[in-house]
Amino acid sequence: MNSEEIIDVFQKKGMRIEIGATYSAKGQIAQLINGVNEITDRACEWKYDDDGYFHTGCNYDYALVDGTLEDNRHNFCPKCGGRIVEI
Ligand SMILES: [Zn+2]
Repeated sequence: MNSEEIIDVFQKKGMRIEIGATYSAKGQIAQLINGVNEITDRACEWKYDDDGYFHTGCNYDYALVDGTLEDNRHNFCPKCGGRIVEI
């Protein structure tokens, strides 16, 4: 997710995030926390294939050297940052 997509999420939630804008630090921090919660609450569906790779919902191929996602403590997608949901 790039900065423009993040700003889009903020703005869709009714937040006043604009590049170069000057609001109170407290207000901006509160808006950022709310926005981050929205962003990190997304899921990324990972499907394991016979080729040894997980194919992710955000169009990424990912392989583990050994073990399961849980064994390797993988909770979030390294590409999009979404919560991994194995399907
Ligand atoms: Zn992803």
